[in-house]
Amino acid sequence: MEKLTAVKGMNDILPPDSARWEWLEAKVRELMARFAYRNIRTPIVEPTGLFVRGLGEVTDIVEKEMYSFEDRLNGEQLTLRPENTAGVVRAVAEHSMLYDGGKRLYYMGPMFRHERPQRGRYRQFHQIGAEALGYPGAEVDAELILLADALWKELGLKDVQLQLNSLGEPDERRAHRAALIAYFEQHADQLDEEAKRRLHSNPLRILDTKNPAMQSLVEAAPKLIDFLGEASLKHFRTVQEILDANGVAWTLNPRLVRGMDYYNLTVFEFVTQSLGSQGTICGGGRYDYLIGMIGGKPAPAVGWALGVERVLELIKENGTAIDMPLPDVYAVIPDAAFVPKAMVTVQALRASGVRVQMHAAAGIEGMGSMKSQLKRADGSGAGFALIFGAEEFARGEVIVKALRDGAGAQVARSMADVAGWSATLQSPAQA
Ligand code: ATP
Ligand code: MG
Repeated sequence: MEKLTAVKGMNDILPPDSARWEWLEAKVRELMARFAYRNIRTPIVEPTGLFVRGLGEVTDIVEKEMYSFEDRLNGEQLTLRPENTAGVVRAVAEHSMLYDGGKRLYYMGPMFRHERPQRGRYRQFHQIGAEALGYPGAEVDAELILLADALWKELGLKDVQLQLNSLGEPDERRAHRAALIAYFEQHADQLDEEAKRRLHSNPLRILDTKNPAMQSLVEAAPKLIDFLGEASLKHFRTVQEILDANGVAWTLNPRLVRGMDYYNLTVFEFVTQSLGSQGTICGGGRYDYLIGMIGGKPAPAVGWALGVERVLELIKENGTAIDMPLPDVYAVIPDAAFVPKAMVTVQALRASGVRVQMHAAAGIEGMGSMKSQLKRADGSGAGFALIFGAEEFARGEVIVKALRDGAGAQVARSMADVAGWSATLQSPAQA
């Protein structure tokens, strides 16, 4: 029969690689708690209209990257979430979460975009995101950037640069848009098909082009920053001031527009030179109009999302060693008849916090010889073997044998009094 495989661009995450994922997730949870951001989990499937309205009709995601389908039972148009900001905003509005003030939230999970799979670009990929809703001030933009910056430090990442821009407010964008259309019309012969199509629907998006032939044209286009009024400029300057005061380096990138329509004022990306062309590891900005656009009570908001696969790739590139969670103890049970009682001891150890890997039969020949089990114990990385030998077992005892520090040393312990000696088995990191 033909072998079934995973969908193209959607990856299995297997051990030992999955340990890196857990390590990263644990770091993120701990850091989010330090910044007082709370976890939110929204459905992976949302009504298609949420993304069409939220992200904008003329965006890469909505035009060509969404996995959309019709619910077979009721005909509803549904989409696998390509990002999580729209879902968070929907949830916040649906549950009136801002009734008693702003909320700081974070999420982690899979996102889906139908893109050409390549290094750092997948069809199911994962994002970790942070969103602060209900806060208009520049200090929250800055806090979110400092949060991301703290995460890079926590993860030991060095080659990460922050790029900043301001998209201003809608009226400022309108003035810029008119100037942009006029400019691109003057150079219509240099526009590719996509740009021509977007010229009147979403000319700002042309600045986001990945077409190398259009780079110099885009480089010289009118810059939005030159159209910003005093209030927008002040907001932007405050963000910069806070970053400067905290020693976070940044560069102004006037071409940074981001892939969704929902942004205003501050936008930013963290980029690295170490990952080739998929060098953006995190992006975000302010989206004060999104909640209103999807039918909620208008409220300001700002957030970012990072690409987990790209961040993990960068961690790997850095050669950062990640401690795999190894067992403290490997239980060697040469006689299958001892299994029920041996497992009582094993369970007692686990209940007291010791990590125990129990030997299990690999085939019909049973548990295997003492020698082969001890070999497994060595290979497991455990610090100790717990040997349920016949003589000791008869006395209600079990042998604890050191496998690493002071390897070979052994001592008999009472099977009935696990609490009396379990602490001696835990690795220092865990104790
Ligand atoms: P790009 O320009 O690389 O397509 P984007 O602007 O579409 O990125 P965002 O929507 O801002 O990306 O998503 C935030 C982050 O999620 C990106 O910076 C990137 O690290 C990651 N990301 C986006 N799309 C993918 C994907 N298809 N595969 C893996 N990671 C992705
Ligand atoms: Mg993209």
